[in-house]
Amino acid sequence: MTRVVIVGSKGRMGQALITCAARQSHALKIVGQVDQGDELGSVIEGGDVVIEFALHHVTPGVAALCAQRGKPLVIGTTGHSEDEKAEVTKAQTRIPMVWASNYSTGVNTLFWLTRKAAEILGPGFDLEIIEMHHRLKKDAPSGTATTLAEILADVRRVQLRDAARHGRVGLVGERTAGEIGIHAVRGGDVVGDHTVIFAAGGERLELTHRASSRETFANGALRAAQWLVGRLPGLYSMQDVLGLK
Ligand code: NAD
Repeated sequence: MTRVVIVGSKGRMGQALITCAARQSHALKIVGQVDQGDELGSVIEGGDVVIEFALHHVTPGVAALCAQRGKPLVIGTTGHSEDEKAEVTKAQTRIPMVWASNYSTGVNTLFWLTRKAAEILGPGFDLEIIEMHHRLKKDAPSGTATTLAEILADVRRVQLRDAARHGRVGLVGERTAGEIGIHAVRGGDVVGDHTVIFAAGGERLELTHRASSRETFANGALRAAQWLVGRLPGLYSMQDVLGLK
């Protein structure tokens, strides 16, 4: 039985985690629900692992407390600044952490396929990413779109900060061969759509994933939490959890 503490428990993902964990009550128990104004420190001891889906500025403090108390941490939150990422990463020397921009099995397969397609198609194809999310999403582009862009930049051996082209407006001129276009669309209640476009003269390949329920992320995060308990300190990805590496 894995005992889980949830940070961000009143949010959309927090609620999905609680629903999904209840269906796996033979294997999982939620022993702490922490949201804004609650003290993680007062419930952390009762848990084997912490799962955080809250806000970018919350994660560094959660990671520091988990490191201090020796509790594994699953991070679902996206939109961190470089400073916040550096703060969070410090905890990896003391505890095992899974940090993934997307916990769905389908999206992690998309990550794998995107790398393969970019390797096979080579530099002659223009690369563009389009993501769409519900109107309440706070960060853009999505963490998943950023991961897709990082994969493409890695295959092309370029720095993403140099290659990324976020949206286009005005007289931007012709597209350069090296740029990676990233476009964030917002509206309605879309849980999360991602398309990677590989476009060349005469043909175009598009890889698309559409999430229709948050439960796909919640089940993935719960799976990651169970996998993480008992691991050595370090930073793991969902690709590690799924054995895709
Ligand atoms: P949400 O706004 O519905 O929920 C966030 C919750 O965090 C809220 O209940 C809020 O009150 C709470 N919160 C704010 N400050 C807090 C604090 N100091 N301590 C504890 N809780 C606090 O957002 P959401 O849709 O549930 O998404 C949460 C995060 O997860 C976002 O960053 C989102 O992009 C990300 N997300 C990641 C994945 C993934 O697979 N990695 C999937 C979906 C969403």
